Amino acid sequence: MTASLAGKPRKVVPKILAVIHADGCTGCEACLEICPVDCIFKVAGEDHPRLQAFCDIDLDRCIGCQHCRQICPRDAIEMVPTPEIAGHVAAKGGPPRYVDETWDALVDQARRNAEEYLAKKHR
Ligand code: SF4
Ligand code: SF4
Repeated sequence: MTASLAGKPRKVVPKILAVIHADGCTGCEACLEICPVDCIFKVAGEDHPRLQAFCDIDLDRCIGCQHCRQICPRDAIEMVPTPEIAGHVAAKGGPPRYVDETWDALVDQARRNAEEYLAKKHR
């Protein structure tokens, strides 16, 4: 992890964003360790103690650097053009309970990132 970037606000929405396909993810944390902005988080835990561990991404902070995709041993991470991110997030899968509880918020977040990217691009 590059400590100098962690926790700092992102200046622009990148042209590509990362999506973790939950069904291919083992929760090994390799991506989480390498992400320079600490925007990858482990899902199973206090709120979901019985789920198999897997990781997800805070798209509001992803800078599209691709380090996570390069290191993932399961090819579970895809880099997606930002205007198309909402469709990919909607289809990324995961345990039914997690999908039920988070789908709306995660897809809304993806849609907002796409809209912000397109608005700045056409300004
Ligand atoms: S693309 Fe970079 S910033 Fe985005 S989740 Fe992967 S490692 Fe983190
Ligand atoms: S590196 Fe791949 S398998 Fe490991 S936690 Fe990240 S997405 Fe999941």
